[in-house]
Amino acid sequence: MLETNRGARLANLWDDAKASTMRESERLLYRSNLLGSDKRITNYGGGNTSAKVMETDPLGAGEVEVLWVKGSGGDVGTIRMDGFATLYMDKLNALKGLYRGIAHEDEMVGYLPHCTFNLNPRAASIDTPLHAYVPNKHVDHMHPDAIIAIAAAKNSRELTQRIFGDDIGWLPWKRPGYELGLWLEKFCLENPGARGVVLESHGLFTWGDTAKECYETTIEIINKAIAWFEENNTAPAFGGAVKPVLSANERRAIAEKLMPVIRGMIGRDEKKVGHFDDGEAVLDFVTSKNLAPLAALGTSCPDHFLRTKIRPLVIDFDPAAPDIEKTLAGLSNAIAAYRADYAAYYERCRRDNSPAMRDPNAVVYLVPGVGMITFAKDKATARISGEFYVNAINVMRGASGVSDYVGLPEQEAFDIEYWLLEEAKLQRMPKPKSLAGRIALVTGGAGGIGKATADRLMAEGACVVLADIDEAALAAAENELVGRYGRDVVRSVSMNVTDEALVARSFADTLVEFGGLDILVSNAGLASSAVIEETTLELWNKNIGILATGYFLVSREAFRIFRKQKAGGNVVFVASKNGLAASPGASAYCTAKAAEIHLARCLALEGASEQIRVNVVNPDAVLRGSKIWTGEWKEQRAATYKTDDLEAHYRERSMLKLSVFPEDIAEAIYFLASDMSAKSTGNIINVDAGNAQSFTR
Ligand SMILES: [Zn+2]
Repeated sequence: MLETNRGARLANLWDDAKASTMRESERLLYRSNLLGSDKRITNYGGGNTSAKVMETDPLGAGEVEVLWVKGSGGDVGTIRMDGFATLYMDKLNALKGLYRGIAHEDEMVGYLPHCTFNLNPRAASIDTPLHAYVPNKHVDHMHPDAIIAIAAAKNSRELTQRIFGDDIGWLPWKRPGYELGLWLEKFCLENPGARGVVLESHGLFTWGDTAKECYETTIEIINKAIAWFEENNTAPAFGGAVKPVLSANERRAIAEKLMPVIRGMIGRDEKKVGHFDDGEAVLDFVTSKNLAPLAALGTSCPDHFLRTKIRPLVIDFDPAAPDIEKTLAGLSNAIAAYRADYAAYYERCRRDNSPAMRDPNAVVYLVPGVGMITFAKDKATARISGEFYVNAINVMRGASGVSDYVGLPEQEAFDIEYWLLEEAKLQRMPKPKSLAGRIALVTGGAGGIGKATADRLMAEGACVVLADIDEAALAAAENELVGRYGRDVVRSVSMNVTDEALVARSFADTLVEFGGLDILVSNAGLASSAVIEETTLELWNKNIGILATGYFLVSREAFRIFRKQKAGGNVVFVASKNGLAASPGASAYCTAKAAEIHLARCLALEGASEQIRVNVVNPDAVLRGSKIWTGEWKEQRAATYKTDDLEAHYRERSMLKLSVFPEDIAEAIYFLASDMSAKSTGNIINVDAGNAQSFTR
């Protein structure tokens, strides 16, 4: 994390032995990844790098100069070779003859694809001219917190001069684009001795004649800024702490109460996923004297506010005299006021051709003494938005410590937020998946059906919490899903569904991890086989405990959240054919499964008025991947049916003569958990390859 590194210098990680074996374009990749590996150098997705390289022209024009520059999207820390756009330098230079002036600068973006070298499909970014027109071969553009702190200070120009002398120049705020590229070129020609330039309210440009020189200059300049702040920014941060910090447990407890309620209020049109951060940098800020006035100034670097909206919402909560009920009661007005404020900003700043107003809800919620909550359309975006606001906090800490902090002027912020080029980028984004923004908890999540269900829901964009009593299997299932869908969208909780306190804690953890809950899949199970006179009380209680009581406990917890969240809800029970059809030698199991089905019907009645749907999937004989179909039960069923090949036995017994797999059950669960079944509740879907005994009636 950023804050743990505070004060430490950036290390020079350049390895000559490694770099000497590389081609020039590979050295660019190497340099980019080194720079992007430290968030103090640039924020996620922020900044770009380039190199001007001689390449052989595929059309036989011999050696030509080609600009390799980070393409549109992506992140320098994780970029691969295919993340760079390649463009002919002579064509980029020829564009100067087509430029009709600042009023027409956006049209220059349309010319960039015409400059493409070697049919490279990677789109060139809006920053391409900034790199092309700096005369040096290698150029870095970074967003380091320590430099933006200078760039966002009221006397930014004077500070730059004081810290760097003539080594690093300064340019006033200018939205990135073609004109800024020409400004940079002019600066370089007029200041041949300069090694870089600070862009007001934005970031840093540095350059060099070799990849190594460029990299080392970037590191050196940022280190110089870090050292300068260390020496000169000695006053208590943000005017000093005036509120206490709650304990870690109390902070989580407050976040757990706030997140589903906020989520319900802001998720009417598009469901959102939350992220909670109570790191040191955030806590310093949310306990400080200047929290409210600084937060109101908004963020500075365009990257920061595109991710965090123009300003955060500071929640009315007093950690010195905590009264969460009062805070919850005031939330609705606070959120309405934020929306009204945003709509007023849109109206004040809109231009004739501005795109329609976007979601007016805050992204960042600051809770005094507790931390920061962020909400976005998916977990990664919510997490990254939080990281960006931490960048903004670091910037405010620096700038306000040595000068006055200045946010970007409102109209400039608006013009970037509602830039037609930005809108075009949004329009090109793929349509959200059917469960985007949804949060699901799956019990028995490490088993065959549970894991297949998690996989199916995640493939449709949901975030999933796997709950299981088997911790080893749980860890394995989580790893497998992380490998497929990434770390952001999956969590696991160890849960015994019969333990009331543990169930409550698992749901509370879900709320802090993702901000709410939309879907509960109650699937944890066991199986037992015994004729009635040999069914012990223990065996009977175990079946009732896990299958009936366990389903009750998780449903109750989900209902409590759904009612707080006020955004509907969805419960799917995985029951069994045996809940409808009696089976010999398994009365405890069959009775408990029947109880599940009836519980689902009762809950469907209770939830309907709040759009909470409850439905049931009845599998039969899903052997593959199942933990209950191992050992004793399998042997007992085999003995009951006098067969060695149970799978074949069940297949032959079914009407359709088909085996039933975990994926088949997962498909039915997905249907019931999605809006495709929006008008169904209290239903049962049999997924058993056909069994006349279990026809519903
Ligand atoms: Zn930038």
